[in-house]
Parts: sequence; structure tokens; C-alpha cells
Amino acid sequence: MMDDSTFDNYRQAGEIAAKILREGAAGIRAGASYLEVVESIESRVTGAGAGLAFPLNLSLNEDAAHDTASTGDDRIFSHGDVVKLDLGVHIDGYIADTATTVDLGSHANLVEASFQALEHAIAAVRPGVTAGEIGAAIQYEIESRGYRPVSNLTGHGLDRYVIHRPPTIPNIGIAGGVKIEEGMVFAIEPFASTGSGRVSEKSRKEIYQQISTKPVRTPSGRSVMERIRDRHGLPFARRWVPDKKADIALSGLVRTGHLHVYPVLADIPGSLVSQHEHTLVVTENGCVVTTR
Ligand code: MN
Ligand code: MN
Repeated sequence: MMDDSTFDNYRQAGEIAAKILREGAAGIRAGASYLEVVESIESRVTGAGAGLAFPLNLSLNEDAAHDTASTGDDRIFSHGDVVKLDLGVHIDGYIADTATTVDLGSHANLVEASFQALEHAIAAVRPGVTAGEIGAAIQYEIESRGYRPVSNLTGHGLDRYVIHRPPTIPNIGIAGGVKIEEGMVFAIEPFASTGSGRVSEKSRKEIYQQISTKPVRTPSGRSVMERIRDRHGLPFARRWVPDKKADIALSGLVRTGHLHVYPVLADIPGSLVSQHEHTLVVTENGCVVTTR
């Protein structure tokens, strides 16, 4: 398994993430401001003595992932919106990744589809099963309710200050996949969609991540890298580097291979996507969900 202090860090991060996600979801209503919701949730994480493993992802309707508020964002929630909140908390680098969907319309069945998919996937986790079998449980729960699982988004392994690593946990029943072992830590995140079941990149870019430590040539680029140094390579928001030259610096740093950018990922226009996510540690007979 893993040592006790590592497990305690995962569990503590999970407890904080679960509580703040619950409270944050309860604060979402038509007319509320995206920016206020995002800043309030993010500041509760740091106020709890934890770190943000990534900016709060706030993605609406056909947008599945990777949107967040920008500086001066004037968007507000509307009646009918399907709101995904995806929160990452870490304690000393040990990450809890968890998400939920708030329905501001009448989409209870869509929300139930990703919720039940996640519950059935978790119930399937134990040493010896394959990632493909977990994906099959997700696919069944979503398709039997009349929706499509998003096939090109997946769950993922976690490690200290590492947000994406093997194993990959598919949202569909692929043949085989990684064999699950005791001590693995990963997030499962089913998405249910009324659209095509595939996401593609939009032009909107709000979330970035450092991927190289090689020297930066421009002063504005160096200034961005200085501001994100304490991220330990974890993702950050454009909103967190709010100086005038930062936008140009960010695209330059992507071009030079210093940063990776996460564009907003969306299913087809007019579709609706729901998401639920938990982080878990695989035990001898099953798993412990850290983010309940
Ligand atoms: Mn997540
Ligand atoms: Mn995740």
C-alpha cells in the first residue's frame, strides 16, 4: 500500500475538497457571477491551509472542461444552465480531484447519468480489474439513460504534484486497459452528453501549465514564470497572472515549449454535458474514496 503520512495527506486533501465543492455548489444560482463563485471557492481552499491543484474549472452547458473565470469576467449564471464545478486541492502535493454538476434547469436525468456512472465505476474498483471494465460500467449507466459518455475525456492517475499520469480510466468499455493494483491513486470522471459524445478544443484559453524549466528569453515571459514558480508544475489560470503583457507572454511561452495550454473542451453547440468525479486509493479489497 502507501505509507500512512502519504495516505493522510490524500485523505485530508479529499476532505477539504469535498466540503468546499459541496458548499460552492450550493452557492450557484441564476444571476450569480462566475468570477465571484470562482474566487470564493478558490479562496476557501487556501483559507483551509491547502493548495489549489489547478484553477477551479467552471464549465457550462456544452463546455465539458477547462473553462474558468477570467480577470474582470462579467458572465452570470442563467436559468437552464448545466454547471460543472471541478475542484483540485492538494496537501503537500497530494491531490484530491473532484467534480459535480449543478442543474439550473430541468436536466435531472442527465445529471443522474454521470452521478450513477461514477458510483457504479467506484463499485467496480478493486485489484485485478482492468480500466476497460471500469469504463464499461460508466458507458452502461450513461447509455441506458439515453445519453452518450464523452469518449475522449478520461480519468487519470495522480501522484505528488502530478495531475495526469497512468492509469488512464476510460469513460467507455475498451478492451483491456491497465490492470488495477493496490496502492494506485486515480480519479474517475464520467461525462454524460446529449451531443456527440466527443469534445473538441474551442479558441478560449484560460488554463496553462509549466512543462519545461529551460531558460526564458523575454522579460515578460520571465515575469510570468516567476509568478508561477511556486506551482511545482501544477496548472494555473490566466487570471492569476493579470498583467497587461501576460496574454502575449503566455502564447509566446506555449510556442517556445515552456507552457502547455488547456483550451476549453466542448461537445457540439447546443448540447449539454454533465460530469461527476472522485479521487480514490485502491486497497486490498476495493478502494477508499478520498473526496466523499
Ligand atoms: Mn477534475
Ligand atoms: Mn480529473
